[in-house]
Amino acid sequence: MKTIDTKTITENVKRLCIEAATFIENDVLNRIKKCMENETGLSKSIIEQIIENDELAAKENVPMCQDTGITIVFVEIGNDVHINGDLYQAINDGVSQGYTEGYLRKSVVKSPLNRINTKDNTPAIIHTKYVVGDTLKITVCPKGAGSENMSKVKMLVPADGINGIKKFVKDTILEAGGRACPPLVVGIGIGGNLEKSALLAKEALLRPIDDESSDPDANKLEKELLKEINELNVGPMGLGGKTTALAVKINLYPCHIASLPVAVNIQCHASRHKVVIL
Ligand code: SF4
Repeated sequence: MKTIDTKTITENVKRLCIEAATFIENDVLNRIKKCMENETGLSKSIIEQIIENDELAAKENVPMCQDTGITIVFVEIGNDVHINGDLYQAINDGVSQGYTEGYLRKSVVKSPLNRINTKDNTPAIIHTKYVVGDTLKITVCPKGAGSENMSKVKMLVPADGINGIKKFVKDTILEAGGRACPPLVVGIGIGGNLEKSALLAKEALLRPIDDESSDPDANKLEKELLKEINELNVGPMGLGGKTTALAVKINLYPCHIASLPVAVNIQCHASRHKVVIL
């Protein structure tokens, strides 16, 4: 049994909050650079500005975007791990310290009705999963409102089929237009039920940009949707062009015989997430 101190969790969450806001993942930056080869004129110039912004943020130690997001934290807890205190408090302390000491914008209100800012970006949205092993894996994923607000869940029925899924995804991307700051990473959850599909879509955003689904049907759909989304001509920042999405990631789960839940979680080009394994 491994014991992990809550102070270690807090320190790591603090560090990950700052790093996620500041340093773009290499795989995402490389994919953005690759997409530039397909663009000309205005859309090429926008991609160049995104790359310059991301490289400057890393060099100057400042956030890539003013919206440093609501903090989503995924935790995988091994069955041989003992945490000597309150895991949720330790994570929220890390978020509070990260956003305060890192000068990140505090974007969380205490109640959706009273709209009073909590002033330290807490509480985080924390998802825990129990796994086999003696490690604690923490993934910090700050999510801006521009892309999250354009995400959707829909309860399709089996008769809607693959064409219904494609239509829902593409309609969602078209409606989002430039408001979600494309080029996008599109996370799609298919199956489960209402809330499970939404979580699948969010988890899909955490997959490496080059990762392909091991399920043959999902793999085929990822490729087809990426091509079809990029034919929509939404383009970088919604101003037209060939690169609307950098990647499409589909996560599946079993579902009821009469249901076809589909969630589309749109992620902007910043696609922020950082991981630590303790
Ligand atoms: S969608 Fe992303 S890039 Fe656009 S404002 Fe929000 S966090 Fe920033």
